Amino acid sequence: MPTVESASSQSQPGAGSAGAAPPALSVRDLSFTYRSADGTFTLKLPRLELARGQQVLLTGPSGSGKSTLLALVAGLLESAAGSVAINGTSIQALRGPARDAFRGRHIGMIFQTFNLLGGMSAIENVELALMFSDLPPPEHRQRAQTLLGALGIAHPSRAVERLSVGQQQRVAIARAVACKPVLVLADEPTASLDPANAQAAMDLIQSTCRQNHAALLCVSHDPAMTARFEHIEALPGLIAAG
Ligand code: ADP
Ligand code: MG
Repeated sequence: MPTVESASSQSQPGAGSAGAAPPALSVRDLSFTYRSADGTFTLKLPRLELARGQQVLLTGPSGSGKSTLLALVAGLLESAAGSVAINGTSIQALRGPARDAFRGRHIGMIFQTFNLLGGMSAIENVELALMFSDLPPPEHRQRAQTLLGALGIAHPSRAVERLSVGQQQRVAIARAVACKPVLVLADEPTASLDPANAQAAMDLIQSTCRQNHAALLCVSHDPAMTARFEHIEALPGLIAAG
């Protein structure tokens, strides 16, 4: 079960306990502060846990720290305190290229604006992500083609900027699961899409994560998203700003 609760909650099972697979994500007592000319923003998250394959929606208004939390989970920001473990491995204990390689192999990321590499084809975008995978390089193209085909990309050799917005998001979904990550992080993945494309993209994100046995932590401020998730957590009560 995912839980976001008081810091005094029970200790974590998983890593270390005999026979039990560690959770896809385990966050404990996380604390992070942004200081800028506009003031100070502090995010505190006592506990968040995603079991393997579990799909959790994290809601919260704009500015509540959703993107900051995903960056902390991905090891793109350093927390002031607390722990983040992906599949039992502390991402904070990894440094530099080792952390980048771990992220590339075990975490898939889907962004609002897709962040595909322009000038490259859909297939090349997915192949690039596969450089972190366990698959032998000769098999990368086939894996990329299979994923893109399953997501309905009819022209995988076309430069990504020539694809529709909905297709670009599908390429981003394929890229996110290319390495069979244990965890996919999706940051407002439908915010750039019209309602019809948004529904289709969420269907694909959720089913693709399921097929690839990836847990999904999806953040959104869109109330329409809540019907899609059994497990919903909200950031507001956990944020101390000032
Ligand atoms: P959300 O994704 O929920 O909209 P964010 O995580 O982007 O929220 O931002 C949370 C808070 O952190 C906001 O108050 C924002 O202004 C602040 N913030 C975000 N990025 C930075 C930054 N690079 N420097 C200083 N403050 C930042
Ligand atoms: Mg955000």
